[in-house]
Amino acid sequence: MRFDIISVLPGLLESPFAHSILQRAQKKGIAEIVVHNLRDYAPGKQKSVDDYPYGGGSGMVMTIPPFAACIEKLKSEREYDEVIFMSPDGETLNQRIANQLSIKGNIIILCGHYKGIDQRIRDIFVTREISIGDYVLSGGELPAAVLVDAVVRLIPGVLSDETSALSDSFQNDLLDAPVYTRPADWNGHKVPDILLSGDTPKVEQWRFEQAVERTKQRRPDLLE
Ligand code: SAH
Repeated sequence: MRFDIISVLPGLLESPFAHSILQRAQKKGIAEIVVHNLRDYAPGKQKSVDDYPYGGGSGMVMTIPPFAACIEKLKSEREYDEVIFMSPDGETLNQRIANQLSIKGNIIILCGHYKGIDQRIRDIFVTREISIGDYVLSGGELPAAVLVDAVVRLIPGVLSDETSALSDSFQNDLLDAPVYTRPADWNGHKVPDILLSGDTPKVEQWRFEQAVERTKQRRPDLLE
């Protein structure tokens, strides 16, 4: 799977993909993440990517030509399944969307800044708009990193223990069960006996019950 992320601040995206699971996925060749500097596609000497909003008002708006040039170049090189714009007014990212995207081939992600991007970029090029929650950040880079992380860890072969993604919160509309590790007794705070029993089916049953209980208490909406 390949992600092409178009950003005016590519430096913001260096670290998130250079560690841990995302780094391993790229080393294994399962995911390719390429960040493009929007400014490289800006016409003129100024390399400007934004301009004043028509109709007046505060904040700058990102212009069409650099995004159009970058998207068109990418599309001339390969087919894309989605062109995603990270935006607070998009559909809110959840595990279902992450699962859907994890079976795609090539995805372009656009990161906005300032007041946002010219509406016509959205109308002409964008196939899907995704928000990471009901709050506003200063740019689309952190949301893009969140989206790529959520998707890449679901691609088969990325996590060393493949079943571990399946038991995570929101897969099967359940929150995850509580987890414990050594020591079994910390200053009198003990690990539940069942986890020390070695009885795998019973442990599985306990985890399922805990997951249901936790979901009932914290996110009853998931059980509806
Ligand atoms: N004026 C816009 C916000 C612009 S914030 C509005 O009110 O909707 C600048 C950029 O940051 C956005 O274009 C988007 O790419 C990104 N961004 C900010 N918050 C986001 C969120 N919750 N989810 C996804 N992207 C977000």
